[in-house]
Amino acid sequence: MSSVTVRVPAKVNVQLSVGPLREDGFHDLVNVFHAVSIFDEVAAKESESITVAVTGDWADQVPVDDENLAIRAARALAKHAGRGYGADLVIRKAIPVAGGMAGGSADAAGALVACNELWGLGLPVEDLMEIAADLGSDVPFSLMGGTALGTGRGERLTELPTAGTFHWTFATAHGGLSTPRVYAECDRLRAAAMAEVPWPEPDADLVAALRAGDPHALGRRLSNDLQPAALTLRPALATTLEAGRRLGALGAIVSGSGPTCAFLAEDAAHATRLARAIPESAPTRTTTAAHGPTPGATIL
Ligand code: ATP
Repeated sequence: MSSVTVRVPAKVNVQLSVGPLREDGFHDLVNVFHAVSIFDEVAAKESESITVAVTGDWADQVPVDDENLAIRAARALAKHAGRGYGADLVIRKAIPVAGGMAGGSADAAGALVACNELWGLGLPVEDLMEIAADLGSDVPFSLMGGTALGTGRGERLTELPTAGTFHWTFATAHGGLSTPRVYAECDRLRAAAMAEVPWPEPDADLVAALRAGDPHALGRRLSNDLQPAALTLRPALATTLEAGRRLGALGAIVSGSGPTCAFLAEDAAHATRLARAIPESAPTRTTTAAHGPTPGATIL
């Protein structure tokens, strides 16, 4: 095998409940991940060493050194296999960078699947999931795709059943938001409010809406504990969310740590209308209609 290409989806969190700050600086989460049809492609070619190049939208914002999550994933896999394998990785980037849609994690998952194939390792998905969990808490879900409940730091995953297809519109913003900064702002707001932070629990009504394929019920139950922090750091996002609501979105939410905003639509045509109309009254960079759930990292 001289070249392998893998397609990996972005995610939106339809529930993101953030527990109290732990002594180790992390939070226990209840995270319902949903993979959507905005894809990065990771191609791996035989080579002496491990390198990365990035093309497509957002390419200029992605590091091409050892900070790149795809390189770190390929290195971790080579180490696991116990050999000095090499690969030239090329990432075709469509998932917004630092947008709260797990783009870096997607590329890490793509690199794991591509290099496993390129190097003929034949590791089972369970092994890849373990390596993925060490790389970052969103990486296992990028491998798995579909819709899943994540607990712990988000890395312990249980698949959730869904019916049919949900239609979404995503509005990206100019400039990213750093995930650690958004968590820190969430902690700061909570400390200032001196409110008791409840233990995070899965929302039974949301899980039922997913199972029933009911976008109206899902739209009512979308929740994100990081949203107040993202809105404090980026007040203009409130205008974007409001624009979608006025246009009849069934639910409007900041995706993960933001600043991408996610809108649940009635159907594909409504998602397209939202994508056209939201920029007329809100400061967005791009808008895209997409659907979910989609499979995780897949060899093309
Ligand atoms: P999450 O939703 O998982 O919190 P995110 O979507 O907000 O993440 P990413 O797009 O994953 O954020 O990028 C976060 C940072 O990671 C970027 O600012 C970038 O410097 C770095 N990074 C490293 N590798 C990659 C990659 N392959 N693609 C995108 N960003 C990368």
